[in-house]
Amino acid sequence: MNYQIDENGFYGTFGGAYIPEILHGCVENLRNNYLPIMESDDFKQEYDQLLRDYVGRPSPLYLAQRLSEQCGCNVYLKREDLNHTGAHKINNTIGQILLARRMGKRRIIAETGAGQHGVATATVCALMNMECVVYMGKTDVERQHINVQKMQMLGATVRPVTSGNMTLKDATNEAIRDWCCHPSDTFYIIGSTVGPHPYPDMVARMQSVISREIKRQLAEKTGRDYPDYLFACVGGGSNAAGTIYHYLDNEKVKIVLAEAGGKGIDTGMSAATIHLGRLGVIHGSKTLVMQNEDGQIEEPYSISAGLDYPGIGPLYAHLAQAKRATVLAINDDEALEAAFNLTRIEGIIPALESAHALGALKKTKFNPSDVVVLTVSGRGDKDMETYINALKNNH
Ligand SMILES: *Cc1c(COP(=O)(O)O)cnc(C)c1O
Repeated sequence: MNYQIDENGFYGTFGGAYIPEILHGCVENLRNNYLPIMESDDFKQEYDQLLRDYVGRPSPLYLAQRLSEQCGCNVYLKREDLNHTGAHKINNTIGQILLARRMGKRRIIAETGAGQHGVATATVCALMNMECVVYMGKTDVERQHINVQKMQMLGATVRPVTSGNMTLKDATNEAIRDWCCHPSDTFYIIGSTVGPHPYPDMVARMQSVISREIKRQLAEKTGRDYPDYLFACVGGGSNAAGTIYHYLDNEKVKIVLAEAGGKGIDTGMSAATIHLGRLGVIHGSKTLVMQNEDGQIEEPYSISAGLDYPGIGPLYAHLAQAKRATVLAINDDEALEAAFNLTRIEGIIPALESAHALGALKKTKFNPSDVVVLTVSGRGDKDMETYINALKNNH
């Protein structure tokens, strides 16, 4: 079994590049350049230095003692929450902006839902003195005001999108439209392992620093460079891709992925694309898509703004189909409970997205000797309002 991408950009039958003719040259150019540039010494040196001195890598691998006691095994947390800007997304935006510069692009565009990818993109554009335009659904602009203000403070232009439901899917359509109008000078920084080939592979490689570090850190701490289990949450799949990248072909490592069940997968208010999606094309990629009978995309729902994408990275459609990964739908209330639990027993307030991965621990039966690595994709500062409201409603 092969879990890597093939030369046409497919994971099994999923992926590819379904794009309008006008973008063909652009995407082809990226496809021809991303690997030679990413593998050049010059790129690696600048990228590694920024990951170390700007992002703060390597992120710690922390043996969570009390959580381990609760789970009856050895749980290590990969602390992406400690990165500059508070999540794993910066690993990817730094890599892509270095690539953009080497390809001679002057202008950066991005889409954002909750605003986290927008902030990570605006951050690296400030760092590299590049023009930055971020598309964001108008509904999200209103819901995520602090992130809009951060992007503006960082010098980015935030363009509210008023088509459709005015959320992430509409913002992505608008970013693609912009790219079609400015294919020669503009680089589109996509925030997850989604979109047309080569984005899913490129973003997975940018994030693969996570499992490269896990290997070294586990070897130091346990004398073995692989765990029995890896846990991560999946929205589009970038933090999960980073977590599993160097372990995909090691079948001794079990992979458990948490998607957002929302209020429950049969309530009509869910973002569990792997459970509920059917084959379709979204944003240039053939993958599982939440859609109605007519093939219209259904608006996903999750308490966590970072997990409510109506598609899923093509890698995950493949891993689920090949049964390489176990995919669990974790509901809002289970994620909240897991977030409060981690906060109280380890003193770590996780992002709501990461709390879905934590919620999946409870649903897995471990042996006492098992070594588990769970990626805490981000910190919970941005979710405090949701957490406080949940506390109020429970008392
Ligand atoms: C955006 C985000 C996610 C979901 O995106 P992936 O590409 O699936 O990783 C998860 N956690 C945090 C903290 C995020 O900001």
